[in-house]
Amino acid sequence: MTFDIEADWTLNLLCNYDCDYCFCRASTEHRLVGRISPEQYLEFFNSTGKIWLLHLTGGEPFFHPDFVRLCRTLTSRHFISVNSNLSSHRVRDFAAEIDRSRVQYVHCGVHVEERDRRKGWRNLLPNVTSLLERGFPVFASLVMTPSAFAQFPRVAEPFTALGVALIPKAIRGSYEGRWYPQAYTEAERTQFRRFSEQAEIIARNGTWRPDQLRATVNPLLDRHYLDGVPDFTGIPCSAGRMSVSIGYDGKIFRCGQKTVLGNIFERRLDLFPEDRPCDDEYCPYWCLRYSRFEKETQGSFPRRGAPGAVKQALVSIRGMRREIGNRIAAFSQPGRP
Ligand code: SF4
Ligand code: SF4
Repeated sequence: MTFDIEADWTLNLLCNYDCDYCFCRASTEHRLVGRISPEQYLEFFNSTGKIWLLHLTGGEPFFHPDFVRLCRTLTSRHFISVNSNLSSHRVRDFAAEIDRSRVQYVHCGVHVEERDRRKGWRNLLPNVTSLLERGFPVFASLVMTPSAFAQFPRVAEPFTALGVALIPKAIRGSYEGRWYPQAYTEAERTQFRRFSEQAEIIARNGTWRPDQLRATVNPLLDRHYLDGVPDFTGIPCSAGRMSVSIGYDGKIFRCGQKTVLGNIFERRLDLFPEDRPCDDEYCPYWCLRYSRFEKETQGSFPRRGAPGAVKQALVSIRGMRREIGNRIAAFSQPGRP
């Protein structure tokens, strides 16, 4: 799988689940989602002259209008990876219609509490099986809330039977008034590492082999950063040159919200010609992939600790404002599902 640039694309906001730890979902879709046709999206990516690996996430991407057709259109030239709760019946259409060789992996978020609440188990394993039967690389993850530790072995069992690794995923940020991953107890950390190492063994024999199939979003890394992720400030990073993030509103950023590089709807993209020092905060998986940080030398990098009470409060307020903004934007588009 050879590509020139990778994008972390928040395709939409609508999700049928409402996980307590979620920072990016809405119960009605944003008015700009699906504003242009799949062919126009393809035309935009083609116009850059690059081959893209598009990491499609949300919200729940399978609820993007015409998601399967969008994937089919994009994969006529580019590659995709997908992050989904795999609850939609459209997963089976995806498995039947999309060229498996253009899909780097499908990452299934299990989300136990919401899956229990929404009767989401009955679709899950048939959907996973339909992907496996067509040869798609699949792995699953479970966000490790305090209650997830006791549930993990039971939840992992059916995935293991299918040869799919269930990987523990660390919470990053505020959850039930505590800041993670720093708030994990010693016993939880030990258990987390054990689950993660077991998952890696299963993954090495499964359809998604972490040693062969590079994945930027790789929860197997989490066990190495349970004390917090490194502070990447000032480290040279190829984000903006080799990777970007794309919002549901079409804006293209270097990574976080600080540096806008373009807009899909305006058919505009100005990438950096060279690597530049990190000056933002973003998803650690992307930072670990695209900065010149070396895991082997991580001891010499300061960790980002839990922020002080004031910053934690600001982060919570920002999250609430974003949620309110999403809801207002969603309501301003009558007729959306
Ligand atoms: S399934 Fe994913 S997008 Fe939906 S609420 Fe849960 S974490 Fe958020
Ligand atoms: S290290 Fe992370 S936050 Fe910093 S520039 Fe790179 S991707 Fe962005």
